[in-house]
Amino acid sequence: SKTPITLLGLGDMGTALARAWLAAGHPLTVWNRTPGRTRPPADEGARVAATPAEAVASATGPVVLCLLDDASVGEVLDGVDLNGKDVVNLTTNTPSQARERARWAADRGARFLDGGIMAIPPMIGRPETGGYVFYSGDRELFEDHRAVLEAPAGATFVGEEPGHAALHDVALLSAMTGMFAGITHAFALVGPEKDLDRIRFATLLADWLGAMAGAAHGMAAQLVSGDYTEGVTSNLAMMTAANDTLLATAEEQATDPRLIAPYMELMRRRVAQGHGDEGLAGTVGLLGGA
Ligand code: NDP
Repeated sequence: SKTPITLLGLGDMGTALARAWLAAGHPLTVWNRTPGRTRPPADEGARVAATPAEAVASATGPVVLCLLDDASVGEVLDGVDLNGKDVVNLTTNTPSQARERARWAADRGARFLDGGIMAIPPMIGRPETGGYVFYSGDRELFEDHRAVLEAPAGATFVGEEPGHAALHDVALLSAMTGMFAGITHAFALVGPEKDLDRIRFATLLADWLGAMAGAAHGMAAQLVSGDYTEGVTSNLAMMTAANDTLLATAEEQATDPRLIAPYMELMRRRVAQGHGDEGLAGTVGLLGGA
């Protein structure tokens, strides 16, 4: 028989997780602060608990939290006996909140895993969409419950340091933010052109970004070896010169360069330090990370 799950929190994400676990045949117990939201999973066979304490007391498998934020996790589990339980926190948090929550769970006699969900609700229960969850913390908990954790989306364990799932989550979302900034700038540049096909442009743009994303591997190799000239095919001196063309074109197109200018400034600083022969890895240290 399949591992039973207890799920606290039936917002958009919790509801999607509930549906996926029920569809995969796992017995499910749910609780939500606003009782009306337990109706859809209950109609599909979930048991509804009246309180978090009751839900956790009856749990023989993982207790999963999918609440708004870390403060709501503290509120919901305040005074609840967690001794001997397996707690899996899928609530978005910072790395330090996750580490603190891991200590908090250990003090209460629970095993603890923190998760960062790299998916939106429609991707849950649909493996073909590529959604997955980062996990960090108790490795044995992860291995013991791997099958149930993999039922709603992929499950990627990134280490025993409990903050690392949150850190991976935020690092990927931060990189995505930079990418969105780049896409925004690109659409602004072509904006004044009435005879330019946006739909076709978007295809070219997305394909180019996909091709360039592999640069992450080259930067990682340089950061690991410490040799920032290793494997360089486009060096910083050349890229900095090209940036002048990018900025001049932005001016011609009456486009505010504010989204791309800060990174160009970082590249310029690295060249000014005498590192024009390097790739991009040297700019990482200028932000404080290295
Ligand atoms: P929703 O806003 O849809 O749901 C929030 C849930 O938290 C509800 O169940 C709400 O209960 C509950 N809640 C909020 N505050 C409290 C509290 N003080 N005490 C008890 N329960 C509380 O959010 P989502 O379901 O979309 O997100 C849940 C988590 O998943 C978040 O941490 C989010 O960052 C993460 N996530 C969401 C993604 C998404 O695309 N939706 C993507 C990746 C991660 P009530 O119904 O009573 O209001």
